[in-house]
Amino acid sequence: MRSLVAGRLDEVVDDLAQLVRTETPSTDPSLLARGAAELVSWVRERWRGESVTTLGEGPGAVIQVDAPGSLPGVVVLLGHLDTVFEAGTLARRPFSVVDGIARGPGVFDMKAGLVQGVHAVAALDELGVPRPTVRLLVSADEEVGSLGSRAALVAASSGASAVLVLEPGGVAGTVKTARKGVGLWTVTATGVAAHAGLDPEAGASAVHELAALTTHLVGLADPAAGTTVNVGVLTGGTRPNVVAEHARLDLDVRARTTGEAERVGEALAAWRPADGRVHVDVSGGWNRPPWSEPAPELVERARSVVASLVVPFDPREVGGGSDGNILAAAGLPVLDGLGASGGGAHAEHEHVVVDDIPVRTALLAGLVAGSPSAP
Ligand SMILES: [Zn+2]
Repeated sequence: MRSLVAGRLDEVVDDLAQLVRTETPSTDPSLLARGAAELVSWVRERWRGESVTTLGEGPGAVIQVDAPGSLPGVVVLLGHLDTVFEAGTLARRPFSVVDGIARGPGVFDMKAGLVQGVHAVAALDELGVPRPTVRLLVSADEEVGSLGSRAALVAASSGASAVLVLEPGGVAGTVKTARKGVGLWTVTATGVAAHAGLDPEAGASAVHELAALTTHLVGLADPAAGTTVNVGVLTGGTRPNVVAEHARLDLDVRARTTGEAERVGEALAAWRPADGRVHVDVSGGWNRPPWSEPAPELVERARSVVASLVVPFDPREVGGGSDGNILAAAGLPVLDGLGASGGGAHAEHEHVVVDDIPVRTALLAGLVAGSPSAP
């Protein structure tokens, strides 16, 4: 399997180039539609025209491509087409391969993962390896929270024997076995403006209240339990001599367990400003629930497939969430981080290690063919 893919690495890299050269920012519906059409025709070509369905419409639409197999059960390959890079990034940072490193917007997160997933199934079929039905699900709003696609992803994955997430990995033997939940909140405060020198008692400072809230929130972090709190944005007021009428705070919380997620959410909900004249609005919540329990059979299967590929096994629990969190919370066995080897997700230096594409593809193929429900 690994040598089959290695032998056609140029073709695989050409496919990757094609996907990267169609920019697909989460925020651009027309580019996403074009990218989706190209993706569908490319998958049909590689998988010899299997059935394609589009679930839902608009930014939350999910592409579903089924490749029926001879073994019982359904294995879901889960990916997303959207990237965090705005249209025009490609002109500045075109697709390139230099010294075995591929670059370009979205190459690592996660177009290389999509390419590896599709080639893994094509290679299994070419080698005549029996496999269960594979259902490729590709969303287009993952980088903006998957609010439109999550219901379709859960419904289309129902009953799957395994969910293999094509998000970026790290090195050749990386898999991601658990991910923290991600909570995102915005707090806006409205107080009463006044002259800070002449009439301070008439004022009620929105800035002071959100500064106090910041201290309170930071105190909720529990690094030992895996709970982190980041007030990434704190803004408000107009001038030093004016009691601030408006302030705003954007908060990112990560939690490893549901208990911790609830603790922080409840503490935020229970907080009240010291000055009752300041009105506070809290919006947001847990965007992706904690995924704390690895799927033991999938992890063991990955361990043995990686061993057979003679690379070190590198299972990781990570702080970043993905749609894997959503499907794990729906009770499905999930293994994540099965996409590219490389680094720099969401950053200018994102890159894919081209020489690791065959081993990463072979890992996926081994997981698909040997999924737990398959005899
Ligand atoms: Zn991603």
